Amino acid sequence: MLEKYRVHEVAKDLGVPTKEVVDLLGSRVPGERKSMTALNETELSVVLNHYTNQNQVENFEEYFSAGHAKKEAAAAAAKAASEQAKAQQQAAFAAQQRAARPAAPAGQPQAQQNGGRPAFNGQQGSRPQNGNRPAFNGQQGSRPQQNGNRPPFNGQQGNRPQNGNRPAFNNQNGNRPQQGQQNRPPQQNRPAPQQTQPQNGTQPAAPQKPRTRGPAMTVDTRAGSVQINIDKYNEKYDNLAQSKLGNKDTAAQKQKLNQRSAQRRQGKPAMSRKEKEDAKMRRLELERQRRKNLEITLPEEITVGDLAARLHITAAEIIKRLMGLGVMATVNETLDFDTASMVAMEIGAKVEKEVVLTIEDRLFEVEDENDEGMVERPPIVVVMGHVDHGKTSLLDAIRHANVTEGEAGGITQHIGAYQVLVNDRPITFLDTPGHAAFTSMRARGAQVTDIAVLVVAADDGIMPQTVEAINHAKAAGVSIIVAINKMDKPAANPDKVKQELTEYELVPEEWGGDVPCIPVSAKSREGISDLLEMIQLVADTSELKANPDKMAKGSVIEAKLDKGRGPVATVLVQNGTLHTGDVVIAGTAVGRVRVMLNDKGEKVDEAGPSTPVEITGLDSVPEAGDMFNAVEDERLAKELVDQRKFENKQEQFSSYEKVTLDNLFSHISQGDIKELPIIVKADVQGSVEAVKQSLEKISNDEVRVKVIHGAVGAVSESDVMLANASNAIIVGFNVRPDPVAKENAERDGVELRLYRIIYDAINDVETAMKGMLAPKYRDVDLGRAEVRQVYKITSVGTVAGCYVLEGKITRSANIRIVRDGIIVADDKLDSLKRFKDDVKEVAKGYECGMSLVKFNDIKEGDVFEAYEVEEYRE
Ligand code: GDP
Repeated sequence: MLEKYRVHEVAKDLGVPTKEVVDLLGSRVPGERKSMTALNETELSVVLNHYTNQNQVENFEEYFSAGHAKKEAAAAAAKAASEQAKAQQQAAFAAQQRAARPAAPAGQPQAQQNGGRPAFNGQQGSRPQNGNRPAFNGQQGSRPQQNGNRPPFNGQQGNRPQNGNRPAFNNQNGNRPQQGQQNRPPQQNRPAPQQTQPQNGTQPAAPQKPRTRGPAMTVDTRAGSVQINIDKYNEKYDNLAQSKLGNKDTAAQKQKLNQRSAQRRQGKPAMSRKEKEDAKMRRLELERQRRKNLEITLPEEITVGDLAARLHITAAEIIKRLMGLGVMATVNETLDFDTASMVAMEIGAKVEKEVVLTIEDRLFEVEDENDEGMVERPPIVVVMGHVDHGKTSLLDAIRHANVTEGEAGGITQHIGAYQVLVNDRPITFLDTPGHAAFTSMRARGAQVTDIAVLVVAADDGIMPQTVEAINHAKAAGVSIIVAINKMDKPAANPDKVKQELTEYELVPEEWGGDVPCIPVSAKSREGISDLLEMIQLVADTSELKANPDKMAKGSVIEAKLDKGRGPVATVLVQNGTLHTGDVVIAGTAVGRVRVMLNDKGEKVDEAGPSTPVEITGLDSVPEAGDMFNAVEDERLAKELVDQRKFENKQEQFSSYEKVTLDNLFSHISQGDIKELPIIVKADVQGSVEAVKQSLEKISNDEVRVKVIHGAVGAVSESDVMLANASNAIIVGFNVRPDPVAKENAERDGVELRLYRIIYDAINDVETAMKGMLAPKYRDVDLGRAEVRQVYKITSVGTVAGCYVLEGKITRSANIRIVRDGIIVADDKLDSLKRFKDDVKEVAKGYECGMSLVKFNDIKEGDVFEAYEVEEYRE
């Protein structure tokens, strides 16, 4: 059943006066009708037929050609197609909306979507007069093809409807746009409404909102989404291509892009897998080539991240390669040069080590062994020997040896070193005799002397300090000349001295060896010139050379703060020439040489190689043994001094690691040491020799054990000094260090190992060299007490009346009995008393009585060392 479709509604829909419709029906169908009369099916057909026929398009071709550009038509067709789709959607929507209404009769389904009214769509083959509306949904097969084959506007007589822009045509419920009417035959005499303007609101009951025109409403979003991306891409590409090529004609490129875009649209990959792989291979090859030519410098240490940056690859790649080398590292991890260069070389880069120029490198002249400016320089001589064997007397004798009477006044200066002329060639003597000063300078890095004159009193022979001196000289690698002194004495026995020398591997020349032995007398000055000539001879064979044209460099011999002159230092120029006004840096002192005095107290302006001079002008007092350098750049020198001061402070906190048995293996593995110097001190000479030989046998492929000094007696200050200068360790058997030596060893970090059994010492050194030094027990000293009185009590035994010198003595302590630096016994306390009371401990400064478990042979002057045994691990 149709809904009621009244005459006035039909008229309105058709855009004709109601009366016209009434009249039309009156003339065709019997009956009377008014505007409110509902039309039946027949009546409606008559009306529609009539008006459709009236608006028929006679010739479609004419229509299309008539004033319409093809392009426009095509666009319109496309539009129409999309609009039709839209219309269909809307129709479907409308149908849904009307689903509740009575179903339309078969064959008129469209009536529903039109609000129950019959559509104007041409029925029964008639063409609707509103054919300018696209969506007629040609019903009943009347002309269904019109929608597909031609613009569905049915614009008559070639008048193309203007509603091409109109979005929907199915909003026919009275509010449909009226613009189509303009295309109507003029005979309809109806005023044409404004083009394209829908007559909104003319039917307030409109179920659908009228749509204003606008492409936004008809956009096919599916197509649009793809289009937008491609356009964007094309635009980018166009810009890129144009800017790159400077070519405005980009048709060809566009075509390519279109193809590409098309490919994309079709979902094809831009490149096949093979192409991709080829491209990847090419890229890798290029990278490999690039890296092959990559030359990088690497510092001593570099982080993974920095290395990656230098190699132009990712840190992940480095980490991966490190894993391959068995190194697990993170980005911030620091790699050493070897590891970093291994990775870099694996990648194909050429690696060079970064040369870090220190301020010293920039400031100081480089020494060149093949320097052509090298000329002979005077030898620098030190005098060593046992106390009272005549070192000072000999130095005096030499000093006066070739001083003529007139010069006597000029030789009173003492600046720490002096020169004498022998056959018009100077010899420089350091006038601080003894190996202590010599070694302390050496410990500071100053390798000053060329020749050591070993003074041995002919009547006394070789004494402990003579042995020390021999070993100190040997450790420093200087030539030794023996001066057998006090030859004027009746008891002089030079042969005995020579004999004893051979025991210390010093074989006199006249006995086939290489050690010159010159008999002298400092007192009578006999043999002095022979000695000097010998010094010159030895110097000549040593070929001592220096370049006087260089900036001066040398060592500080002595330094003091003079009230009037400020810091004063005696320096020994070892290379180059020092001039007044030169900027000098000595240790942490810096300044310009203001006044320069020679050993005779004369003002000089320059000092060549091997010349000692006293200088003023430094800003602080350097230390004996400090190196000094004359430099050009004062600012840089000051910078270096600041740096040195800073380093010194740091060194105080983390004192330089001396070789100990505990760290020996790490030193060996790092390749730091090739030789382990050892100083042996024992209670008897036999022990010294035994230990020396056993230790030297331990040497393996990497390290050679070398006993640089072995002697009988307590570990002395001088032993510690030698150990410090030579980076040696001290091994003692049944001996103790004297208090100063012990203190110095602790201060300087010199290892002092004390044993009671030779085997333990050998074992320790051996295992330490293999890096397997086991955790040990060690003695922890508690205190020392001196025996002041000894009481023999019949029932008790021997009781020692003691005075506690340092620390404390506890009842449970072990006691070492030390006599003249030698351990005579090792025992435990039997009793500890203050007056008559047993006590647990006695502190420093108190007297006490002690008796020992086993040892009874206590003597006055013995020292009891109380100690505990402690287990320790590294
Ligand atoms: P130093 O401790 O090695 O410096 O020895 P000295 O130079 O102080 O001399 C110690 C003592 O030996 C002094 O009393 C000197 O007079 C004496 N003396 C030094 N040389 C000789 C010498 O050649 N002959 C004699 N008879 N006595 C000497």
